[in-house]
Amino acid sequence: MPAALIDGKAISAAVRQQVTADTAEFVAATGVTPHLAAVLVGDDPASQVYVRNKERACEKCGLKSTLHRLPADTTQDQLAQLVADLNADDSVHGILVQLPLPAHLNAEPILDAILPAKDVDGFHPDNVGRMLQGRPRFLPCTPHGVMKMLEHEGIETSGKHAVVIGRSDIVGKPMGALLIQRGADATVTICHSRTADIGAITRQADILVAAVGIPEFVKGDMVKPGAVVIDVGINRVNDRLVGDVDFEAASQTASAITPVPGGVGPMTIAMLLNNTLEAARLASGTTD
Ligand code: NAP
Repeated sequence: MPAALIDGKAISAAVRQQVTADTAEFVAATGVTPHLAAVLVGDDPASQVYVRNKERACEKCGLKSTLHRLPADTTQDQLAQLVADLNADDSVHGILVQLPLPAHLNAEPILDAILPAKDVDGFHPDNVGRMLQGRPRFLPCTPHGVMKMLEHEGIETSGKHAVVIGRSDIVGKPMGALLIQRGADATVTICHSRTADIGAITRQADILVAAVGIPEFVKGDMVKPGAVVIDVGINRVNDRLVGDVDFEAASQTASAITPVPGGVGPMTIAMLLNNTLEAARLASGTTD
């Protein structure tokens, strides 16, 4: 039987509806509108689309968003200065620096310079450490979105073997960290480009998360019958968006699977909105 589709669009709509209601309540109680400042350097077409989608999503939920566009030849100091200005601006609750930055800029010190209380992407070492210790402030949006999907679909993670392909700081590592937290209680294996015989490992996965960045990397015979397959990948192939999983083949084996597009992508944006509201609550002292 083909796998059930995990509909990221529908689940993210439910999250956004909740954020919209909670934002209206917050604004009524405090008179403050949660405000996301997005920084876009250069003119990478994909980044422009991502930032525009984030702005639109903010507006629909009653959040304020401001876009700071900087030219491709912006210097490290100029970008650092903008982040410092946004840190100092009390009307800004969340700061997002769209990645990737142009090659001449070093992202790490820029992300480190964002105040942890405004770091709605959850990339700051302070927030990463808190996540690892199980006392999160902001969780990274993509892995948090995946956890939300699993929860929404009633997919049990406790005692399950979760295999994550990819060990990036923004997806793979935090994904593994969230799956092993108390409460999620999965047994986690993280694979990467040096992993030997990856198929032998993925075939043991009750939950398989692919965050590789290679179109259709996960073939049907790498999926255990009945597994839940989460495809984080977004790859552009001949103007078509393709995931990291061979969807047609994996659907024949898996019990449930996320599509691309319409899977994890919309969840990432929904969790960013959630974090922006949370940042405004933090700033107003209505949460700790
Ligand atoms: P990344 O930084 O390039 O990391 C890719 C990971 O895959 C690395 O850890 C790499 O291993 C591993 N890998 C590469 N080739 C491999 C191979 N042959 N076998 C096993 N592992 C291999 O990418 P990322 O930022 O994590 O993103 C991954 C994918 O998710 C991309 O398609 C990206 O566009 C997508 N993405 C989607 C969202 C969303 O909202 N849905 C958000 C973020 C990213 P090494 O560490 O050994 O190099």
